[in-house]
Amino acid sequence: MKITQIFKEKKPLISFEVFPPKPDYPIETIYRTLDELRDLAPHFISVTYGAGGGNRRRTVEIASRIKNEQKIEALAHLTCIRHSREEIDEISRRLFAEGIENILALRGDPPAEGQGIFDFTYARDLILHLRRLGAFCIGAAAYPEGRPDTTDIAVEIRHMQEKVAAGADFFITQLAFINDHVYDFLDQLVKKGISCPVFIGVMPVYNTRQIRRITELSGAKIPRELNSLLEKYVDSPADAEKVGIDFAVKQIADLLAHGVDGIHLYTMNRARQTREILRRLGKPVS
Ligand code: FAD
Repeated sequence: MKITQIFKEKKPLISFEVFPPKPDYPIETIYRTLDELRDLAPHFISVTYGAGGGNRRRTVEIASRIKNEQKIEALAHLTCIRHSREEIDEISRRLFAEGIENILALRGDPPAEGQGIFDFTYARDLILHLRRLGAFCIGAAAYPEGRPDTTDIAVEIRHMQEKVAAGADFFITQLAFINDHVYDFLDQLVKKGISCPVFIGVMPVYNTRQIRRITELSGAKIPRELNSLLEKYVDSPADAEKVGIDFAVKQIADLLAHGVDGIHLYTMNRARQTREILRRLGKPVS
């Protein structure tokens, strides 16, 4: 089923993101995680796409497992980087053959050594191409706090308008920890006439190393109290994990109370912690 259709019937949606294991790890490791998440019955599960890596083929395989064996709707990420038009068409055909109806169309990050851009320069070019193929419900990325290289939200919203004009049906946001930033962003989208569903990305954090890396990669602003609690428990992983789970539960409860369209939980392939968060929120969700 297309995510826009699920949204019409079941708003707010709760969804998960998982990533394929590295090529030298057996694919069964993610299948075990998915089995442990299955009875939580999220409305869909998305599978990331390694923009340069050797685990790219695994995205289709894992998305197919989610859709056809777990009977949960799948969203396959797909990036422009290092792909020709023909390759994108081939991947789209494989997704279609597996019954996968939803694609998150992204630009991806160009490799440091350059030569990343082939036929599609921006996500909106990939969206336009996929829209012409006709078969898919298409999602795109949004950045409530801007990106590491730019914090100009007006520019970001202009790019979102281009994505909608190209055929995007919904957005998933980059992770953010400060809900007020998300609410300001959503208000601005309404003012600029962007009315498609926006699912809010939430990433639970479990230690200071993880939070530093996230800040670097995403540019997300970290609330001071979360940072200092994680610092306090730097030598006590169990306490730090509890801090992260408590924060995520409170953050999600506040987002849901605010009436957001959905929560997209970046699970980091951690089933136990994801189960605990959903239990504390009083889910399963379907
Ligand atoms: P775009 O919106 O195309 O933006 C790329 C750059 O071009 C930005 O700097 C933007 O400001 C600029 N830009 C956009 N349009 C124009 C224009 N018309 N003119 C000039 N400049 C323009 N990466 C992966 O590799 N695999 C994944 O699975 C993955 N999943 C993600 C999921 C989510 C929810 C999010 C938020 C990000 C994900 N990413 C993933 C990261 C993403 O690929 C990077 O953030 C990437 O740098 C930008 O992708 P985009 O789709 O936002 O690109």
